[in-house]
Amino acid sequence: MRLPDVFTSQPFAISIEIFPPKTPAGDDALRRHMRTLAEHKPAFMSCTYGAGGSTRDRTLSWCREIQEDFDRPAVAHFTCVGSTREELNHWLDEAQAAGIRNIMALRGDSPEGQENFEAVAGGLSYANELVELIRQHTGNFGIGVAGYPEKHNEAESLEVDLQNLKRKVDAGADAVFTQLFFDNTNFFTFRDSCEKLGISLPIVPGIMPITDFARIKRITAMCGTVFPEDLATKLEAVQDDKEAQFEIGVDYAIAQCNELRSNGVPGIHFYALNKSQACQKILSAL
Ligand SMILES: Cc1cc2nc3c(=O)[nH]c(=O)nc-3n(C[C@H](O)[C@H](O)[C@H](O)COP(=O)(O)OP(=O)(O)OC[C@H]3O[C@@H](n4cnc5c(N)ncnc54)[C@H](O)[C@@H]3O)c2cc1C
Repeated sequence: MRLPDVFTSQPFAISIEIFPPKTPAGDDALRRHMRTLAEHKPAFMSCTYGAGGSTRDRTLSWCREIQEDFDRPAVAHFTCVGSTREELNHWLDEAQAAGIRNIMALRGDSPEGQENFEAVAGGLSYANELVELIRQHTGNFGIGVAGYPEKHNEAESLEVDLQNLKRKVDAGADAVFTQLFFDNTNFFTFRDSCEKLGISLPIVPGIMPITDFARIKRITAMCGTVFPEDLATKLEAVQDDKEAQFEIGVDYAIAQCNELRSNGVPGIHFYALNKSQACQKILSAL
């Protein structure tokens, strides 16, 4: 199923993002978690594309597995980092041959040691160019792009970032999936701003259930996501108790998802971090 059909065929589409593990033991563990998650029949599962294109083959093989072994549509993430147009087109040929119908089109982050993103000679600088390249390919892929309710960390302002999002939409994206956030107000403001700019695609909130406070602090520091003070206070009070952090994180995510759902979001994209326990509880509660 292509992304546009995902959002027209059902009123609320749950999706789950995984990443390729680094070890065979990690692969086995992920398969166990995916089996549990697949029982909830997510509309699709997506697999990330590692920094610097480090998982170009594994992203495709996990997407094939999602479709063939777990019977769910796959969305393959794909970035511009380190590849020429020719190499990007070659990967799209492989994705098409593997039966992948959907791509999450991203610029990717600068390689370590490079302060500002620099395209390789013959490569692409921004995700809107990648969307254009995918649209020119014969694969007829459904295309997702990233949106940032709290602004991308390199953008000089939210307004400029929104104009850049509009460029990706105008280039032919089918849906926007947001960066993780914890304050729904920021998402609703972002959605209103998109509407004012004439962006009428499904805008799907990205939710990362908190299961480990130390880890989530590292992640939010990297992507610049605001962490609500009352939530931080609650988690700090149980910083030596992983189980309590899990319970607080899951309860928070359930409340967040319920509020989003009652405010008409077309679905929720879960950053599952290759684990099923939190998502399973949240999906059962939803
Ligand atoms: C849902 C989701 C999935 C992700 N999956 C992955 C993944 O699998 N692998 C991975 O490596 N990373 C992934 N990322 C992270 C993403 O690669 C980074 O956030 C990256 O820094 C920006 O990617 P982008 O596609 O948003 O870039 P862009 O949309 O190109 O934006 C990057 C920056 O450039 C600015 N900009 C954009 N277009 C222009 C233009 N034409 N002129 C001037 N400025 C411009 C934007 O405002 C922004 O500040 C994901 C992020 C999200 C939200």
